Amino acid sequence: MTSPSIVWFRDDLRLADNPALRAAVDRGEPIIALYVLDEESDGIRPLGGAAKWWLHGSLASLGERVSERGGTLILRRGPAGRVAREVVSESGAGAVFWNRRYGGAERGVDAELKVGLRDDGLSVESFAASLLFEPWTVQTGGGTPYSVFTPFWRACQAMPTPRAPLAEPRTISGPASTPKSDDLDDWMLLPNAPDWAGGLRETWEPGEPAARARLREFLADDLTDYDRTRDEPSAGATSALSPRLRWGEISPYTVWHETVASGRDAGRFLSEIGWREFAAHVLFHHPDLATKNLRPEFDAFPWPRLNRSRLEAWQQGRTGIPLVDAGMRELWHTGAMHNRIRMVTASFLIKNLLIDWRHGEQWFWDTLVDADGASNPFNWQWVAGSGADAAPYFRVFNPELQAKKFDPHAEYIRRWAPEYRPDSGELAPQPIVDLGETRKAALAAYEQMRRTSR
Ligand code: FAD
Repeated sequence: MTSPSIVWFRDDLRLADNPALRAAVDRGEPIIALYVLDEESDGIRPLGGAAKWWLHGSLASLGERVSERGGTLILRRGPAGRVAREVVSESGAGAVFWNRRYGGAERGVDAELKVGLRDDGLSVESFAASLLFEPWTVQTGGGTPYSVFTPFWRACQAMPTPRAPLAEPRTISGPASTPKSDDLDDWMLLPNAPDWAGGLRETWEPGEPAARARLREFLADDLTDYDRTRDEPSAGATSALSPRLRWGEISPYTVWHETVASGRDAGRFLSEIGWREFAAHVLFHHPDLATKNLRPEFDAFPWPRLNRSRLEAWQQGRTGIPLVDAGMRELWHTGAMHNRIRMVTASFLIKNLLIDWRHGEQWFWDTLVDADGASNPFNWQWVAGSGADAAPYFRVFNPELQAKKFDPHAEYIRRWAPEYRPDSGELAPQPIVDLGETRKAALAAYEQMRRTSR
């Protein structure tokens, strides 16, 4: 009688460098590949629309790849702990393997399941796969977590080199009788009424093969000039790996080793990978990063009553500020936005519109294909000044100067907000706020906060 091994896929939708899958193959028993769509467990944040779109494509691709190797990807929906136990009892599994997650609610689900299954006599193992440096392994000399990036990254670099990526298995043999699976289409992850995903389809191809191809292309064509071009939104010269890393279609170990093996000077690019690690480090130590100011003095920030029409103008790219509108439309169309423009649009929302960063974070959460439980709130708090190693609040990005500096020929603005072209013949919207006046008001609000929290 065989006792299959369950590989529970989560943020690791790949076959290569997947230690949980490798452990199951090495165990030598038939393999049940499982994905659980969990929108019900306590504290789990439901996915946004663009993330669901990506997940659909990525699961379809993973399912095909598992089938090509002789297995079946089983899809189930519900509270993950309960669903995993159901699959264990239906299949008589003797072992369950997964790769670790670092959000508070996710860790809660995983820890409870691990204890429960082990009590029942199953072998349960978890692995590091999504981060190069797990949060508890990086500590200051005083044994505390890091709150500043530079020493954090220095400490990471002083640690042993990340392990080499694991090869992908050639075969994934399933059990004689496979547990039943949902049909991916029934999960309705793709939008239909209306279908707003046309721009996402034009821009992206989810799935492991496309992720690997993009890394190779980036290393060959763009890495050499990365330092110089990474801040130019029209250059299209950054790696575009963020959704692939978010969904684990490619592992950071693969990115790290292939980058180093390229022989190019890659310090700057690898330090961006380091920011991803730092965001996860901060989330691990502050599980409520998406809802709570990391610096408590910001709890006293005098946000005015929410001005919904301004929030909507920002969301829809109708603020009358060309660079901001271009960015918000790029986001809506492609599910992504260049990093510099993310900073500019976030700063504009928080500091020129005086809208609480949490509203912006939630919009990005709904519209980004790389929406990430660590990187998204971490960066919003960075811009707001309320976060770890954050930009000081009084640093208010001026979107006009940013446009002059990083989009000097207005290529980016022309592409995404063509009505601002002098020859467009269209009536460009007027700014909904005065940049100078609102900057002053933001600084006054900040001063008020400082006085209150003293
Ligand atoms: P590259 O420049 O090629 O960088 C390589 C990789 O490093 C990225 O794929 C990403 O994984 C990582 N990285 C780079 N910059 C950062 C950063 N500042 N923080 C964390 N990781 C970084 N990134 C997300 O992955 N998910 C998010 O939800 C997210 N939300 C953001 C919200 C705001 C307000 C801001 C300012 C930034 C946010 N970022 C987020 C970070 C960054 O903008 C994106 O990772 C980057 O634009 C992705 O493009 P790329 O893959 O071409 O990046």
